[in-house]
Amino acid sequence: MRPPGSPAEHPRRTLAALGLSPRKSLGQNFLADRNVAGKIVALARTFPPPYLEIGPGLGALTDLLAEAGAPVVAVEVDRGLAAHLRGRLAGGSVEIVEADFLKVPAQEWRRRFPAGGTALGNLPYSISSPVVLRLIELRARFPRAVLMLQREVVDRLCAGPGGKEYGILSVYLGVLAETRREFVVRRACFHPAPDVDSAVMSFRFVGEYPEDLVAALRTVVRAAFAHRRKTLRNAPVPFLQGGSAQWRELLQAAGIDPAGRAEEVPPAAYLALAREFAGI
Ligand code: SAM
Repeated sequence: MRPPGSPAEHPRRTLAALGLSPRKSLGQNFLADRNVAGKIVALARTFPPPYLEIGPGLGALTDLLAEAGAPVVAVEVDRGLAAHLRGRLAGGSVEIVEADFLKVPAQEWRRRFPAGGTALGNLPYSISSPVVLRLIELRARFPRAVLMLQREVVDRLCAGPGGKEYGILSVYLGVLAETRREFVVRRACFHPAPDVDSAVMSFRFVGEYPEDLVAALRTVVRAAFAHRRKTLRNAPVPFLQGGSAQWRELLQAAGIDPAGRAEEVPPAAYLALAREFAGI
């Protein structure tokens, strides 16, 4: 008989054997399709090791990385799951860290990944935007990532200008990274099955942008999208001493029509606006 949590076992059986139930609050929808897990891991392995896995859960992805002997640090917030994985994967290439990924300080990642690494994960839906924002902050340490997210979130993150899917995170990634929408994963591939399908995306941060410029980008993009139905000239700009008049000048200097709307402006124009604002 296999021990609970053997790679080929269905999550329902593993959870039952461990006496655990999926925790909705932690977005625990476990991947139950080994072929899909194989595709995600194969994609991640086209990027260089070592790997940071966010939310390993019952180890659907982690097991395959461990089987390949790939070096992994896997961060799991659920104490029971972290203990289970630690016991099962002891002595191999995987280290399990019990922590909330969003609270791990940058210096910890510097210590554990001195030469950087690749991030991957099947992310809990409720924290997918904060995780992507955190990965943007950590982009020098983890220049590449392969993530499974809710399908519509992937569509938004990979969207270009001109539609309602295009938003703040699409602009950040549009400026800082090359993104790819890789493939869709049907809800039936998970236990328990979520209400929506998922998709896998990859991104590669490109170019070097000083922190001041990225902070300026955040400020101007948030202002632009604060009221996305209004024209850009009406954006709230409390951060500008010269108020709306100065904002209109900045927009025009960046080649952006103040009578246009936030969702029509391409990432490169937002970068130009951030440069005008920051004087960089
Ligand atoms: N990777 C596994 C799989 O594909 O089956 C599990 C994916 S499940 C969607 C998300 C996992 O992230 C869960 O195991 C959950 O406990 C964990 N998690 C949730 N919030 C977290 C956080 N803030 N930091 C680290 N792990 C978290």
